Amino acid sequence: MTQHFIVIGNPIAHSKSPQIHTLFAAQVGIDIRYQRQYCPDDEASFTAVIEAFFCGGGVGANVTVPFKQVAYDCCVARGGLSEHAKVAGAVNTLLLNKALLNQGVPVTEAIYGDNTDGQGLVNHMTSLKWPLKGARVALIGAGGAARGIILPLIESGIAALTIANRTVSKATNLVNELSAASPTVNEQQIETCRTAELDGQFDIIINATSIGLSDDTLPISTELNCHYAYDLMYGRPLPFLQHFAARGAQTSDGYGMLIGQAALSFERWTGHRIDVIQATEELNKE
Ligand code: NDP
Repeated sequence: MTQHFIVIGNPIAHSKSPQIHTLFAAQVGIDIRYQRQYCPDDEASFTAVIEAFFCGGGVGANVTVPFKQVAYDCCVARGGLSEHAKVAGAVNTLLLNKALLNQGVPVTEAIYGDNTDGQGLVNHMTSLKWPLKGARVALIGAGGAARGIILPLIESGIAALTIANRTVSKATNLVNELSAASPTVNEQQIETCRTAELDGQFDIIINATSIGLSDDTLPISTELNCHYAYDLMYGRPLPFLQHFAARGAQTSDGYGMLIGQAALSFERWTGHRIDVIQATEELNKE
């Protein structure tokens, strides 16, 4: 039987998720239909779309910009949230809470939210054999993406974390909020600073800002060095990665994170594990 999935966003035409999930389904030999779903940018429309989708027999949905926080609010009031979604304050994966359905709760009240973005990043770095355990990590950015990465990074066993942001108060507030929400984050020593003031030697530096979408460049100190540099952006030349590659660092853009988060969503929905390295090779050929 064909299983139905959607990705909901605005805009949505650019989304690569249908291509990625169709390839996953072929890899594990199941029949799926995965479509892009445009939605007007308001909460009532989002709720109407997901209710219609799940009541119509849909199995799972991905959520992208600008609905990740709306999806979070929706699930708080309905089928619940995973620990990663709670701490991230955002949902990128929707499914039905089977335990609630078995208790007779209606479909619309059983919609459950997870967040696989941060674990997708960690899994990608692990597949690249970047040594996360014991690593000194600098994370630049304090927006939605940074927020979703912090708990999975700490769970991966890093030794120290510094969060740098253009607006340093946003980084400090983020750390305070996440420490209150998660004992795991609370136990980790986290420093914060202004991006321009970030310096010294790190094992891994991650750019989780949206600067790649603009013509600006990050103010990077000449005293800042790393062995590995990761940029969450993909699909265009990234000055951040060029800067650290010229200084001898290994680099990666965020395409593997995109595939990694998709693989985790697919596994939550279908129970099938994806060979992400093989899938990435195939997608790069397309
Ligand atoms: P947000 O808008 O929530 O946050 C933007 C962040 O970038 C803030 O920290 C902001 O700093 C900083 N920033 C923006 N412009 C500048 C600038 N000119 N100079 C310095 N800092 C700047 O965005 P998200 O967190 O949602 O997304 C960040 C990036 O991550 C995007 O490029 C997105 O595409 C990518 N992403 C990739 C994913 C993947 O799977 N590969 C998944 C999710 C996101 P300030 O607080 O001072 O404004």
